[in-house]
Amino acid sequence: MLMFGNGTVLTFDQNSTVIEDGGVVIEGEEIIEVGKTAKLKEKYPQAEFKNVKGKVIMPGMINTHMHLYSTFARGMDLKADTPPQDFVDILEKLWWRLDQILNEKDIYYSALFALLDGIKKGTTTIFDHHASYGQIDGSLDIIADAVKETGLRANLSYEVSDRHGVEEAEKALDENERFIKKLARKDPYLGGTIGLHASFTLGDKILGKVASLSEQLQTPVHIHTAEGWADVADSQQKGFTGVVDRLNKYNIWRKDSLAIHGVHLQEGELDILKRNQINLIHNPESNMGNAVGTAPIKEALAQKLTVGLGTDGYTTDMFESINVANLLQSHEQSHPSVGGEEAFQMAFINNQKIAQNYFSPQLGVLEPGAAADLIVVDYQSPTPIKTDNAFGHILMGVNGGLVDSTIVGGRILMENREVKVLDDERIYWKCQEQARDFWQRF
Ligand SMILES: [Zn+2]
Repeated sequence: MLMFGNGTVLTFDQNSTVIEDGGVVIEGEEIIEVGKTAKLKEKYPQAEFKNVKGKVIMPGMINTHMHLYSTFARGMDLKADTPPQDFVDILEKLWWRLDQILNEKDIYYSALFALLDGIKKGTTTIFDHHASYGQIDGSLDIIADAVKETGLRANLSYEVSDRHGVEEAEKALDENERFIKKLARKDPYLGGTIGLHASFTLGDKILGKVASLSEQLQTPVHIHTAEGWADVADSQQKGFTGVVDRLNKYNIWRKDSLAIHGVHLQEGELDILKRNQINLIHNPESNMGNAVGTAPIKEALAQKLTVGLGTDGYTTDMFESINVANLLQSHEQSHPSVGGEEAFQMAFINNQKIAQNYFSPQLGVLEPGAAADLIVVDYQSPTPIKTDNAFGHILMGVNGGLVDSTIVGGRILMENREVKVLDDERIYWKCQEQARDFWQRF
């Protein structure tokens, strides 16, 4: 039994309760009680006590869209005559070249680095979307091994695409199938979903196969949806209203699927997503960086769609994504009061709800019975932290760099900034070595 106490506890339960001088008691993989430290100490004298000395204790963050394989792109020379001119140019000059070169070791170290960074920035659950067309078969196992080594929770998928040929797309679909079947027994730390790149790189034939596999395995899909205008133009050329409409006609929208981005949704498409109980995942930094536009977050939330928040490989820090989500909506709507509430809802209500469809223990909340996934944040506040302003503190004062300790399933992965589960210095050194090798092959 373990107790983190003498902290300011942000529960992010239904009432978003803040407990001053609070603590959390953990038994095994679960939280058994949350309350005032003094009372908890009295009730559980046998618990090993961790004094957080006034720091913030809150649930670990959930990232609902990530690309662990993107790690080695950081600072890389694209070796192109001209820099990318638009979104499709970025895909062709960078991502679709990079995914063909990744080998087993590249996949492993890319994933391990990003996962380790997740521990350091307070992300405890990650929904990953993987591509490595030079090494398809077994690639999800390599990532799963890295996930297991770090102790985090992850849902993995391989992005099926015709972009390197129909045969490769089929192999990619097989990789999803193989991995999901292998995971048949529910693992509270690891899950699998059918990954699809995007409508505009998926032909009719493969979409038909995806729909039947999804039906057969009763597994939702994870797909980039109307991220750039090229995706919409492709669907419209094929006679559909837009991307969501095309995928709907192919029965791709199984309940709980993850539709990523939704920047260019067409008339009636929010409604299709809502009817099929699809989660829309917003990635504000990525959308701004790729200059694809702004997703209609306010409208989607107004239609009661479950809109979650991810990072799209742009960063591993969910606090950064929260911050930018707020700013982007204020800017886009030309209204200073728009954005905060939406960012809160995406990060702390909807990501939690989405994770519940994929993982058996309750995640993203500090309450009895929930998974013991929590972080301690070294946030020294100049002002009081109360139930009605807790999110304001996160928005204006917290970033991943302040995360001091990370606990998943009751296991301490990092304590006082020291990673406990892995030799992080050795991994950084190995990553650098592997990245140099990879860059030479790019
Ligand atoms: Zn993505």
